[in-house]
Amino acid sequence: MLMGLDSGLRRNDVDWQRACKRGPARAAMDSRFRWKDGRKRFRTYRLPTKIKACLRGFHALYICHYKCTNNCITPTGGRRMDIRNMGVGVNGTLAKDTLDWTRKVLSACGPRLTGSEACTKSARMIQEDLALHCDSTASEEFTVHPASFLFFMKFFALSYLAALVLVFLGGVLIYPAALALTAGTVLSLTQFVFYRNLFDPLFKRKKAVNVMGVIEPSGPPRRQIIVSGHHDSPHEFLFLASRWQKWYALRITLGVFSYTAANALCLSWAGLRLVTGADPSWAGALAWGALAGAVFVVPLYFFHSKRGVPGAGDNLIACAMAARVAQIFGQAKKDGKNLLKNTRLVAASFDAEECGLRGARAFAQMHGQEMADLPTFVLNMDSIYSLDQLKFCKRSGGLYASSAIQVTSVG
Ligand SMILES: [Zn+2]
Repeated sequence: MLMGLDSGLRRNDVDWQRACKRGPARAAMDSRFRWKDGRKRFRTYRLPTKIKACLRGFHALYICHYKCTNNCITPTGGRRMDIRNMGVGVNGTLAKDTLDWTRKVLSACGPRLTGSEACTKSARMIQEDLALHCDSTASEEFTVHPASFLFFMKFFALSYLAALVLVFLGGVLIYPAALALTAGTVLSLTQFVFYRNLFDPLFKRKKAVNVMGVIEPSGPPRRQIIVSGHHDSPHEFLFLASRWQKWYALRITLGVFSYTAANALCLSWAGLRLVTGADPSWAGALAWGALAGAVFVVPLYFFHSKRGVPGAGDNLIACAMAARVAQIFGQAKKDGKNLLKNTRLVAASFDAEECGLRGARAFAQMHGQEMADLPTFVLNMDSIYSLDQLKFCKRSGGLYASSAIQVTSVG
């Protein structure tokens, strides 16, 4: 299926590009790296190899952060795999069905920011599809505070400007400056590194919904596999929707680096002042250095817009793939030859992934006991754009994947 999707997705994107030229502005092509909509023409870039590698690395981490369960499976235990030997009867029709389904939901719903009617509608459509093939389905509502996740970008810019003024004024004002910057660092770490919802209550509450379908095995279940995607779509990243697109990773890196460096130096200054009672000799240099850093930090305020993107590749296509997996096994069961002997299959689609993996966490909380009772493996798919970028990541705890296998040998 993945092989079929490779070429198919590109066609899909082209179709969306055509739709953009004809249709309303919101019918926009989704690819984060090749973005175009009806109102503005954004250039398409081939990202330099190093930036590509960097983005892939970030994305591998991103996938590995998925907190759905403690396990993400690596099909070959760390070795390179060959999809041709997977033994699943996959053909072009199935890939076409997958793409057609994705197109259908996109046409009906459009962009699907968490909490929007469109997002709920897409969840309903996914559940309806799962109901055709699964023994049972469920939709599970939970509350979420979508705006809290990326707010730290805006807070970075605002706290940096405030700290900059305080640093230039100097003296005891270095204490609130260091405090403001540290608050931004803590906020970003809780949201983006640890995915905690510490500050969520400060933001508007919305309703989100996960959906799932279950196919029971013929014998008693001894393990379960969850195949999943997410149906909410991300905000439009303005850093990607501009002529500066190819500098995306560099701009973010420089912004975050400038902020972190300023935070560390302000804390050092404040510490030295506390101990010695005097400002360090490099205080003036720091102020001018911080002013230069503002060039990189302040634009972070405009990192994303309020608009959502259609989210075809990120990540409706994965929901379609999970549903097609359910279709294969569900149909076999209906035909009287259940392929599942002792393995329960769960096809799931999460909400609120783009606002900090909240949907997967809600799912894990609701099904924690089941996953504790039964060995559970998760195959979570995200941003399936092209085969040459396909990687399998195994989460081993902490921030890093112990193995991220790039599948490039498949013909
Ligand atoms: Zn995603």
